[in-house]
Amino acid sequence: MSQKRIIFVPENCRICRTCQFMCSFHHFHEFNPSKAFIRIYEDEEGNPHAEILDGCDSCLKCVESCPYGALRYE
Ligand code: SF4
Ligand code: SF4
Repeated sequence: MSQKRIIFVPENCRICRTCQFMCSFHHFHEFNPSKAFIRIYEDEEGNPHAEILDGCDSCLKCVESCPYGALRYE
């Protein structure tokens, strides 16, 4: 049985950081991207990447809040 996971679609990501803001607000009541359990970063070519960190509880606030459809759960 396969486990669901958060899928990142880099073509859709605009690096707006809404996902990070919502994650940190959900867990710490702070809009502080550095406290989020999802990290969005750009590589040297400016391409976006996402990393889910230890501590993520699969609350899916990040997926629900992404305005550009760059996060899915499947
Ligand atoms: S994944 Fe969505 S919410 Fe997060 S930075 Fe990219 S576009 Fe914004
Ligand atoms: S699913 Fe994980 S990364 Fe996304 S908002 Fe919840 S704790 Fe943060």
